[in-house]
Amino acid sequence: MGWGECVAFAGPWYTEETIETAWHVIRDFLVPLLWQQPIVTPEELSSRFSPVRGNLMAKAGVESAIQDLYAKRLERPLAQLLGGDLKPLPLGAAVAMNSVPAMLAEIDQRLAEGYRQIKLKIGPGKDLVYLEAVRDRFPDLELMADANGAYSRKDFSQLRAMDHLNLKMLEQPLAAGDWFGHRDLQNQIRTPICLDESIRTEDDLDLAIGLKSCQAINLKWGRVGGLYPALSMLKRCQQHGIAAWCGGMLESGIGRGHSLALSTVPGVLLPGDVSAANRYWEEDIVTPEATLIDGYLTIPNAPGIGYALNPKQLERVTVTRQEYRP
Ligand code: MG
Repeated sequence: MGWGECVAFAGPWYTEETIETAWHVIRDFLVPLLWQQPIVTPEELSSRFSPVRGNLMAKAGVESAIQDLYAKRLERPLAQLLGGDLKPLPLGAAVAMNSVPAMLAEIDQRLAEGYRQIKLKIGPGKDLVYLEAVRDRFPDLELMADANGAYSRKDFSQLRAMDHLNLKMLEQPLAAGDWFGHRDLQNQIRTPICLDESIRTEDDLDLAIGLKSCQAINLKWGRVGGLYPALSMLKRCQQHGIAAWCGGMLESGIGRGHSLALSTVPGVLLPGDVSAANRYWEEDIVTPEATLIDGYLTIPNAPGIGYALNPKQLERVTVTRQEYRP
C-alpha cells in the first residue's frame, strides 16, 4: 500500500486550497484521471493531472501516495529513488515568539536537543526586538526569519533594519504575488530573500529567477504538486544559482517521510526545517517516530518512505474514509 499526504489546511490561509477543496478535486477529477490507464512511473502524473488547473496540494496528496507505492514495488527507499542517499540529516526547528524570555528558553532547549538551525515567524510589531535578542545571545546561530507575506512595501525600512543580523534567509517578506516588491527589496538588502508561498509552479520560479526576486526558495513538494515537480524545480534552481531547501508543512509522519526523502537529494540545502515527530505530535501515526539522535535524524532504509503506519493511532485520529474503485 502506498501512503501520501495532502498538506492543505482547514481554511484557505496559506494557499487557496482547503481540506474540503482537496477532497472534491481528488474524488471528482484526479481519481478519474488515474483510472484512465495504468501508471508506469510516477513521473507521468504531472502530465496526467495537467487538465486540472492548480490544486497542487490535492495533486501532491495523490502523487506522494503513488511515489511511496512505486518505491515499495521496487523494494527501494524513496530517498534513493529520488536520487538521494540515506545519510542522517541535520535539522532545524521553528520556535514560537510569545515573549523574548520564553523564546530564548525555547531556543536553548531546541539547541540542546540537537537542532542546528532556528526559524522565527516574524511579522510587523513582532520582529526586530526578538531577532536582536536572539543575535545577542547566540551570535553564531543559523537563524532564519519567515514572515509568511506579512509585510508590504511601506515596511521596507523596517526590513532593511534586519539586514545587519546575519540572517541566513528572510523568507517570504511580502505577499505571494508581489514579484516586483521582492525584487526591489532584494536590491536593498544583502540578506537572501527566500520565496515560499510565491513559488507554486516552474513558471513562478522562472519569474523569480528572471526578475531576481529571490536568492533561495523553500521547496515544498506538498505545495508544488508532488515530489517530481519539486525535483524538476530543484534542477532549475541549480542551473540558476538559486538555493533550495525543504521546509515542513506540519505534516504527520507520512508527509514528513516524503519531506525527509526529498531533503536527502544532493543540492537541497541543509539543515531543513523538517522537525522530529515530538515537535508536533503527542503520538505520530507512523512507527518508529522520527527522532533526533545527536542532532541528526536517521533516514529509514525500508522501502518507500520507510515508516510503517501505527494502526491504532491512525484509527484514533481517522475522521472520514472514502474509497474509490475503477
Ligand atoms: Mg514559509
